[in-house]
Amino acid sequence: MKYIIKEIIDLFFPKKCFSCGKYSEDYICKNCYLKIEFISLYQSFPNKYLNGLFSATLYSGVIRDLIHKLKYNNRRSVSKPLSCIMSSFFKKEIHGKYFFECIIPVPLHRTRYRKREYNQTLLISEKISRDFGIPIEEKLLIKIKDTKEQNKLSREERFLNQKDSFKINKDNTKYGSVLIVDDIYTTGATSYECAKTLKSGGIKEVYLLTLSVRKAESLCRQ
Ligand SMILES: [Zn+2]
Repeated sequence: MKYIIKEIIDLFFPKKCFSCGKYSEDYICKNCYLKIEFISLYQSFPNKYLNGLFSATLYSGVIRDLIHKLKYNNRRSVSKPLSCIMSSFFKKEIHGKYFFECIIPVPLHRTRYRKREYNQTLLISEKISRDFGIPIEEKLLIKIKDTKEQNKLSREERFLNQKDSFKINKDNTKYGSVLIVDDIYTTGATSYECAKTLKSGGIKEVYLLTLSVRKAESLCRQ
């Protein structure tokens, strides 16, 4: 109940910064916005299945705080400023240079979905889809294993945890080039499995766009 009231306040009276809680006309106050570490990262073939990785920010400070609120504190409305960051990044770095037939938000297992009641990667994808007319494909990739939370695992454990955890809906592989969207890139274990599964289903090019990347050193090849 507490969360619902907070959500209603967030949506209709957005007078408080989602990060610091101080008075703000926008979802993120100027002071917090200036602290965001925008990076405009592109790396080709971060692993053998992914054709390229785009990332908008470093996973630190304000961004880390907002992602945490969205994922673990039931603050669904926090996706609003985050989806704006995603869409402006897309406009600046991707639009007109790359072509994607659909956006695939990294799916949640149904157990996790039931608990959180929304998929945060879908929420942060929606503005790009609307602004650039790229359909969101939610039925193509399915999470079949209820994996552990990645954030407490080592690099090796993360890959093992995600191994064979996705399935492709084989009736629906008409796409040549798709864009996976996730909130954070750390070791790349999740997107490695997503891209492997999508390519096994016949999709030729699979790119990944994340809101944030944990740190540049995490970008080593598999
Ligand atoms: Zn603030």
